[in-house]
Amino acid sequence: MAASARITPPRTVAEIVREDLRPRLAAIDAGEYPVDVLRALGAAGTFAHHVEGTPEGLLAAIDAMGQAGEACLSTAFCIWCQDALVWYLARSEEAGPRRHLAAFADGAALGGTGLSNPMKAFSGIEPLALRCEREGAGYRVRGRLPWVSNLVPGHLFAGIASLPDGRRVMGLFEAGTAAVAIAANARFVALEGTGTVTVMVRDAYLPDADVIAHDVAAFVPRIRNGFVLLQTGMGLGLVRGVARLMREDARGRHDGRYLPLGPEAIEARAEVLRERVAAAAVRHAETDRATFLDTLRLRLDVSLLALEAAQSAMLQFGARGYLEGSEPFRRLREAQFVAIVTPSVKHITTELARAA
Ligand SMILES: Cc1cc2nc3c(=O)[nH]c(=O)nc-3n(C[C@H](O)[C@H](O)[C@H](O)COP(=O)(O)OP(=O)(O)OC[C@H]3O[C@@H](n4cnc5c(N)ncnc54)[C@H](O)[C@@H]3O)c2cc1C
Repeated sequence: MAASARITPPRTVAEIVREDLRPRLAAIDAGEYPVDVLRALGAAGTFAHHVEGTPEGLLAAIDAMGQAGEACLSTAFCIWCQDALVWYLARSEEAGPRRHLAAFADGAALGGTGLSNPMKAFSGIEPLALRCEREGAGYRVRGRLPWVSNLVPGHLFAGIASLPDGRRVMGLFEAGTAAVAIAANARFVALEGTGTVTVMVRDAYLPDADVIAHDVAAFVPRIRNGFVLLQTGMGLGLVRGVARLMREDARGRHDGRYLPLGPEAIEARAEVLRERVAAAAVRHAETDRATFLDTLRLRLDVSLLALEAAQSAMLQFGARGYLEGSEPFRRLREAQFVAIVTPSVKHITTELARAA
């Protein structure tokens, strides 16, 4: 056989979503973590678009996440976790943790981010959960993070810990060791298939080689717009998936034709938001507060559209949507996650009220 005949072209994100993901939606909703789908998506280049930090690359990462989110928010959220980790590593000035960048960008290694608590801590909403002290060529770290996703034993995640003098350090931790124990001790109403665990950090040693940023105060303003903008991929994907679900339901479409929000209007609003995301991606590296507030407003608008669209699908499907296991109800439960994951609607509205 000629060598060229044996080469299988890599599958596209659309093919992986259609062939691997769509048949497993119910299982993932029930708690199956789609690790093989994530690896296939990595091989398709899903996690590598934004490594260089160009606006086009950031938008391509958001769009790829959106393609998965049209079918499944659990998978889209796992993509975001991975994308966020890649984003930190790619923007880090430290050579040590950057040794992992290639493996995370191509999906050979998978991991997550424990930055909800730090994001809330930066907004003065809650104290930082991880504390550390300088010890030798590294830091001794302890604390507990209630939820970190895309984690099974052996996966890495990024966390932020505070020093006694108030400075903060960001580093990479390996989940599922004696010093960084994980436990799956909750059942969620959705997003069960995201490998979400509680992390208990018990005197873990963070060597300098795994420090992403010794000075978080300088690093976070450089990554925060991208971190939040990436999340719009999962929200916009869900919105488009809901519009498609409504359109494919011919009987419901006819009966619900006078409902206030139909699929055409949902798609039009999603397109306007995507244009705003594209414009915001151009400014992602700007570190000023006004730009970040614009990013948060955009993220808020994506959350609100996700909620409205999913609610609209429920109204169209009526009792069929109200049956256990229905698609519109899965999308409604997922849409609520878009709105409660950090930065949540509650968090963003607090920030915007302060700025007013
Ligand atoms: C399925 C799932 C997966 C998740 N995955 C991750 C992950 O991968 N990484 C990660 O870091 N996190 C993750 N999280 C956490 C998530 O992002 C939220 O931080 C978490 O759900 C709690 O947020 P909350 O807004 O409900 O805070 P709450 O639990 O409501 O609040 C926490 C504390 O802050 C106070 N507070 C909250 N909001 C305000 C406000 N506006 N003003 C003043 N005080 C306030 C509360 O009173 C409370 O003391 C996950 C959560 C879920 C459910």
